[in-house]
Amino acid sequence: MKKTGFTTTALNVPYSKDDPHKALQMPLYESVAFEFDSAEQIEANFKGEYVAHVYSRTSSPTVEYFELKLKALTNSSGVLAVSSGMAAISNTLFALTKAGDNIIAGNRLFGHTYALFNQTLPEFGVETRFSDLQSETDIENLIDTNTRAIYFETVTNPQLQIANIDMLAQIANKHNLLLIADSTITPPNVFRAGKFGINIEVISTTKYISGGATSFGGAIIDHGNYDWKLNSNLDQYTEKFKQNAFIAKLRKNIYRNTGGSMAPQTARYQIQGLDILELRVEKCHKNCLALGEFLHSESKVKSVVYPGLKSDPGYEAALAYFNGVPGTIMSFELESKEACFAFMNQLQIIRRATNLNDNKTLIIHPHSTIYSEFSENERAAAGIRNTMMRLSVGIENVEDLIGDIEQALE
Ligand SMILES: *Cc1c(COP(=O)(O)O)cnc(C)c1O
Repeated sequence: MKKTGFTTTALNVPYSKDDPHKALQMPLYESVAFEFDSAEQIEANFKGEYVAHVYSRTSSPTVEYFELKLKALTNSSGVLAVSSGMAAISNTLFALTKAGDNIIAGNRLFGHTYALFNQTLPEFGVETRFSDLQSETDIENLIDTNTRAIYFETVTNPQLQIANIDMLAQIANKHNLLLIADSTITPPNVFRAGKFGINIEVISTTKYISGGATSFGGAIIDHGNYDWKLNSNLDQYTEKFKQNAFIAKLRKNIYRNTGGSMAPQTARYQIQGLDILELRVEKCHKNCLALGEFLHSESKVKSVVYPGLKSDPGYEAALAYFNGVPGTIMSFELESKEACFAFMNQLQIIRRATNLNDNKTLIIHPHSTIYSEFSENERAAAGIRNTMMRLSVGIENVEDLIGDIEQALE
């Protein structure tokens, strides 16, 4: 078939089996188990000779369709859907590392990812070497023979710092390391991870892909560009499954045995979310640009950060990696914490909440919430000031958002 645009592709990914009623929406298969015609057929299935859904913790039709859609949309070689973003990240690292191994990771990470790397993985003997990922020599100094991967977030939140992906890909390639990106902030319609040397993409589909804060989900995407023979933790799988060794290890071991599957009801929401993803991102991006300009023009606003704005120092990188759309989260500052709180309390349309990429615009004061357990020094090192607020921009009519901000600033 001719190569089509993102939304056209999303709307036309075929089902793995024809629907008997020609339903235009993938039906929601709410069934734990699936029947076989004969004892011989079950035997063939367990031998791997007859492929069919068996038990929904390992695979099910509606979740499979979500995976097929995401695979087509990311032009990748394999996708596994899981129960949350954290399940995507933990399953990936459990599959790729064992006790004694280490990974290198950015030090400005989503909070629970940092906790996973800093608290949970060390209990299993896996070490994380944190770096600001800004200097090639610093990173190379952290690499040893037990290093398995470099892990980073495409855009850090809430600092909105764009990773130097070209440099990271070059280092990973030179040292035969896997490059793993959490691309939650930059959805697949604006970021083609495989094109930039990323081997594994992990996504919290709870955010953009769920279609507007409808459900929890995660996805692990294999871009098919890593030689799995280079990772001895996949030895049992490379011979038989070749380029699919990583997803095979997840399906036959880590994912199956830890039970983090996506619910079919969730997959139904997430399928719909992919259909309207591009539309929503375009609208949120437009709103970000208009809000950015408006905030810049207000004298009470001390600074505005959104790398999608031409005036922002991150704009060139946003253009190079994300087609000018570095997600749709922005931040801005007022003169004091008290001014931020007074502003937030006056808002009538923008919601005070901690999620990202809802259809509604959400605001939070990171210093007193997400970073409340950090010391003042740690907050300073992470660039978190008490004068700063984060805005996750939604799809409302922009004049209403501007009006809301205008009245709250008074
Ligand atoms: C939300 C988020 C996660 C965690 O995802 P959950 O679906 O909440 O488990 C991981 N990384 C980033 C960048 C996120 O924003």
